[in-house]
Amino acid sequence: MAAFICATCGMQYGETDAPPEHCLICEDERQYIGSKGQRWVTMPELQKGYQNRIEDIEPGLTGIGSMPGFAIGQRALLVQTPGGNVLWDCVSLLDDATVEAIRSSGGIQAIAVSHPHLAGSLVEWSCAFGNAPIYWHADNREWAMRSDPAYVFWEGETHPLWDGLTLVRCGGHFTGSAVLHWPGGAEGRGALLTGDSIQVASDKRYVSFMYSYPNMIPLNARKVEQIVQSIKPLAFDRIYGGWWDKVVDPDAKGAVIRSAERYIKAISPE
Ligand SMILES: [Zn+2]
Ligand SMILES: [Zn+2]
Repeated sequence: MAAFICATCGMQYGETDAPPEHCLICEDERQYIGSKGQRWVTMPELQKGYQNRIEDIEPGLTGIGSMPGFAIGQRALLVQTPGGNVLWDCVSLLDDATVEAIRSSGGIQAIAVSHPHLAGSLVEWSCAFGNAPIYWHADNREWAMRSDPAYVFWEGETHPLWDGLTLVRCGGHFTGSAVLHWPGGAEGRGALLTGDSIQVASDKRYVSFMYSYPNMIPLNARKVEQIVQSIKPLAFDRIYGGWWDKVVDPDAKGAVIRSAERYIKAISPE
């Protein structure tokens, strides 16, 4: 038995004798099957070929990303506050060196995810850190591929954690797509941790909002406006996207509002 991991999206499935026939995440129109067909790896195979880069980003924030890049190639974030640490999104690889490094930073009190593409092996991570609860929006429940009692399927628009940390459903890319507001981030100016629903652009004064990034399917204006409304009440000056270099600073909130105006103009009739 092994808990197989999809080599294209990085999602770990529940334990089976043989690899699953399908990755439902990759068969969805927001993702894709790799050119060599559906491929799976096991955690021991990953541990042989990859390691995690763990790096402090700002006081109270540590990044964790696999080297070389695996699957979607994201880096997770560990937010450290007096009330405990929350792991925002996850990666597929977990090894002894990673567990040790994170334990020395205070461990993981909870895991929270933006959406299924950046979830990796989160159940295995939860098990390694005392069955830490996994906050996953109920609207994305069908995409939780490895069932486990640690899941907390939160509902509605916001869900407070502790020390001001709040999960906010912004929708868009997935109906249950969420962001994490960290009021203590960016030296107290506030930071927003996003996944794909608010995606940092190459021009870091802007973000974008797509239904599918790899397949370039845009969102409609109503959904982009819904994303803006969800973040408007939050105070933040910096956005941490899902990859090491995807950071907007300063005026990140202004960047979301400006980017939404530009986007809606671009998809509107002449
Ligand atoms: Zn997949
Ligand atoms: Zn995504």
